Amino acid sequence: MKFSPAKPALTGETLETLTAALAARGQPPFRARQILDWVYKKRARSWDDMTNLPKALRAWLAETYALLPAQLVLNRQSADVTDKLLLELEDKALIETVIIRVPQDGVGLDHSRKTICISTQVGCAMACAFCASGLAGLKRDLSAGEIVAQLLQVCYAEDARTPRARSELASFDNIVVMGMGEPLANYDALIRALTILNAEWGLGFGARRITVSTSGLVPKILKLADEPLGFRLAISLHGATDEVRARIMPVNKAYPLARLLPAVKTFSEKHGRMVTLEFILIADVNDSLEQAKKLRDIAQDLHAHVNLIPYNTVEGLPWKRPEVARQLAFAEVLERAGVSVTLRREKGHDINAACGQLRLKTEREREAAA
Ligand code: SAH
Repeated sequence: MKFSPAKPALTGETLETLTAALAARGQPPFRARQILDWVYKKRARSWDDMTNLPKALRAWLAETYALLPAQLVLNRQSADVTDKLLLELEDKALIETVIIRVPQDGVGLDHSRKTICISTQVGCAMACAFCASGLAGLKRDLSAGEIVAQLLQVCYAEDARTPRARSELASFDNIVVMGMGEPLANYDALIRALTILNAEWGLGFGARRITVSTSGLVPKILKLADEPLGFRLAISLHGATDEVRARIMPVNKAYPLARLLPAVKTFSEKHGRMVTLEFILIADVNDSLEQAKKLRDIAQDLHAHVNLIPYNTVEGLPWKRPEVARQLAFAEVLERAGVSVTLRREKGHDINAACGQLRLKTEREREAAA
């Protein structure tokens, strides 16, 4: 499912493609770098900001490209440490980009570690039973330019908060591809976007600080393992047996654990870094000690890190998070065995930060108003 915009986004162009487009117009090669420098390093917000370009070239650029294909409609700051940007695309579709701040001991919030969570699709086709993003199915894939634009919007928001040092291009520490959508189902746009974010002519953001999270598309996990840039991988496991996993994740029918886990192992061996297993704790679904023991065995075999996430309630869905004591008992089974495990502290509950929830709420409000 593709959307054809009136003009391609400049943020989807690479140095090579832009140089070629400019060469076809008789422009010298250095112009491409100049333009990309305005976009990523100087954060120009309009073509007219690009003052060292000839006027005629600016006019051609304005006719040919959309400078930024995602506009900010809402920046919802929560009482805790999570900000959520709601962005509108050219076809009025809504996507979410989240800034998660983790304060460091002894310094203020502005010096916190920041992780940016980005979306790759409008809606999602995976139909995980617990997730708000998939409730209305997949609307469309995002283009590479729309994925990159999310990070630029974060840069604008962060630049306004804290003036950055000249040498510091991005004022955040990690990017996680864990927003709306299944990233590996939009593979080519994903890789192109991450390549642009990584490139020295782009945001110059290190590939090892970018984590791609998947519900478990095995052939694409194997493909990702061969990407030269070496992005990190997280798997949404959520069930330590096929029986439990298939109940909440339809993808498990196509790619059961017997196929998924060896693929993760291959990735991890090629990559040489720990893979993360995400495990949402849902009361009476996957939070038993038997599941904890099975998860422990899987994590040990894969030498993987486990991220336990208490479930965020979604309006209209029946699932609930377990009591804290039960969460801790689950985590302890892993901890005692020496597995690297984190039990995620709650962030952003008050701004509907769980995957797809703010968008769902806004779409429902729009429908009600129509
Ligand atoms: N499709 C990808 C990335 C998007 S979902 C994937 O499945 O990994 C990002 C993470 O949020 C996934 O681990 C997903 O299972 C989890 N998630 C979805 N809904 C949630 C909820 N209501 N509470 C907590 N985590 C949720």
